[in-house]
Amino acid sequence: MTATIIDGRTVAARVLESVRARVAVLHARDVRPALAFVLVGESAPARLYARRIERQAQPLGIELRPVQLPADLTREQLDQTVWDLSQDESVDGILVQMPLPERIGDADLSELIDPRKDVDGITIQNAGRLYLEMPGQFPSTALAMIELLDAYDVDPRGKDVVVVGRSKVVGHPLAELLIRRDATVTVAHRRTRDLGRHTRHADIVLVAAGQPNLITGDMLKPGVVVIDAGMNPTAEGVVGDVDFEAARQVACAVTPVPGGVGPVTNAVLLRNLVQSAEWRHA
Ligand code: ADP
Repeated sequence: MTATIIDGRTVAARVLESVRARVAVLHARDVRPALAFVLVGESAPARLYARRIERQAQPLGIELRPVQLPADLTREQLDQTVWDLSQDESVDGILVQMPLPERIGDADLSELIDPRKDVDGITIQNAGRLYLEMPGQFPSTALAMIELLDAYDVDPRGKDVVVVGRSKVVGHPLAELLIRRDATVTVAHRRTRDLGRHTRHADIVLVAAGQPNLITGDMLKPGVVVIDAGMNPTAEGVVGDVDFEAARQVACAVTPVPGGVGPVTNAVLLRNLVQSAEWRHA
């Protein structure tokens, strides 16, 4: 079998079309959606990421406001900046570049970001809403992975699904979204014994582990659907967590890297922003 290559760019374009229409409605009401992107220190990948989002946002009528902070800032300065953006009426969404410098650690910004501006679903309020199956803002990579399943008519209902990775921004929220969709979900992680024993039985495998070639062809059941959120820089360019060439011989559908989850994640982030603007100006 040769797998269908899931085309993230086309799915992203469709998401962005819906964003464009919703922005137009906001513009007609004189609401100009704006996303504040807080960058800490000089990081080439973060800058590149910010520029890429800006290039997508601008033609849609969304303003991107980069907020550059020095690498040696204090926790108090970071808190103050995020707090000010939360109070700023002209800002609809706040994105803080992660990971933060080690000195600051994994700051909990729950008390500082207005949950309605929390476009990446990192606050306790939105995490709770996800768990309680209430409407809220949820992490864009996890949403993007679900979006790709939907776009290819892969219904997780009743399926055996393995999520590889349990991070707070991808694997864990993704598992919650899949439970909502009536999947039987196994969450594998660093301490999982014999990962292949789990993935080999799965109808759908979704991977966000940050380990190139973690999932090899022999770990997959014929006909499986594979969604790979890995983005690992190598000498040959960016690769995912799945051995793509092997997977496409076994799977019925698989995402490439790049061109799979990545573009959809950016599009979904902008959709989250528009949702924030709609809620704030309802
Ligand atoms: P991301 O933000 O892409 O989810 P993180 O680095 O925050 O990436 O998290 C990586 C996740 O992948 C962790 O939950 C970790 O337990 C999981 N992981 C890492 N290595 C393996 C492995 N060899 N097998 C299974 N899971 C792994």
